[in-house]
Amino acid sequence: MKVLILGSGGREHALAWAVKRNERVTEVVCAPGNGGMAQLARCLPVNLKDLAAMVRLAEQEQPGLTIVGPELPLSLGIVDALQERGLRVFGPTRAAAMLETSKGFAKQFLQRHNIPTSNFAVCSNVAEVEKAIDYFHPPIVVKADGLAAGKGVIICTSRATAVEAALGLFIGSLLGEAAQQVVIEEFLEGDEISFLCLSDGKHVTPLVPAQDHKRIGEGDTGPNTGGMGVYSTDEMLESGMTEWILHHIAEPTIHGMAEEGAPFTGVLYCGLMMTARGPEVLEFNARFGDPETQALLVRLDSDLVEALEASIDGRLAETELRWSPGASACVVASSAGYPGSYKTGLPIMGLGVAAQVPGVEIFHSGTVQVGGQLLTAGGRVLGVTAAAGSLKEALARAYQAMAEIHFEGMYYRRDIGHRALKEKP
Ligand code: AMP
Repeated sequence: MKVLILGSGGREHALAWAVKRNERVTEVVCAPGNGGMAQLARCLPVNLKDLAAMVRLAEQEQPGLTIVGPELPLSLGIVDALQERGLRVFGPTRAAAMLETSKGFAKQFLQRHNIPTSNFAVCSNVAEVEKAIDYFHPPIVVKADGLAAGKGVIICTSRATAVEAALGLFIGSLLGEAAQQVVIEEFLEGDEISFLCLSDGKHVTPLVPAQDHKRIGEGDTGPNTGGMGVYSTDEMLESGMTEWILHHIAEPTIHGMAEEGAPFTGVLYCGLMMTARGPEVLEFNARFGDPETQALLVRLDSDLVEALEASIDGRLAETELRWSPGASACVVASSAGYPGSYKTGLPIMGLGVAAQVPGVEIFHSGTVQVGGQLLTAGGRVLGVTAAAGSLKEALARAYQAMAEIHFEGMYYRRDIGHRALKEKP
């Protein structure tokens, strides 16, 4: 079977790596892919913003399975378009992906279905924000409604700055694109957990939990990034918590979407805050996370392709996911200057030696292969990922491998997993 993977980051590299382990998979095609994926798949250029181009490519390639990595093609309706053409595709339809593509829709959906989340108001103009803001106590969270690549959330320390932030989102001075709606939210405190599940529209199968590090600086300081590292352990959720989240958050979400006529098939990524009141939904993503996927897939013992096909075919209830016990971690190496501007085209050295460290897989996020030489091609460049019996060991392996890798200005956080290590030395 030929598998087509849409995307070009570390998430898609990890998906390609996991898919390749299935014996029925004869070829993996990545579009557009990157320098790392080119080592295990055929890469074809495609613009992920161009629905017609992606559809053309899938029609030409006729894959037995298409996996959609990023949110943008989902928001354009790639799943609907491929399904209409009789192609098997893993991911939610455009209507179901609204759980991610509209924060206003997601919050109102959560409220309709009594699923725990912070208090909020969805506003269409500044006058509505000014009226709503009286009911919130600082800090106040202000969010753009649509996709914003992690940049659409502003935490404000006063009502006045919250109104100013909302204005900036409406007129487009903050994100470059004017927001149609803005969500005002109560600020939640606690530990954040990424709780990902597979769904076939009816049934929900949880993956192991993960915690990511979004800030660029050590100690979780500085500007937000796409993710500088992530780890996954069995102890991250106390006993019984997985079932609680399933019964009160993930299952009601899947059942609610089905009731509303937009059944959700694919990965439901619940971004949760573990508050004093219990877990509450911060956001949904309608796809695998990056870099969560890298850390999760190195722990997956069962077959990914079988699980994704069960999700497409509505057979998840009969499908079991098996995980290796212990832990995993992914540490991201980024270009100097990221998440601001950065240079690209810098040679990357030492990957061969780094890959020899036991338990380590190196997933490429922003690389390109030019004439036999691997070069940097993005802000996040590599995700050095390791699995082991304990988090300490997984981190030691990832950092041992990282020490072998070099490119000009390479930066990585040396404190991935610090919260878990502090709690359980
Ligand atoms: P989102 O894109 O909605 O997940 O927001 C990105 C990040 O902003 C989250 O991972 C949190 O760290 C933070 N955030 C979002 N909403 C809230 C909230 N209501 N309270 C506290 N932090 C939040």
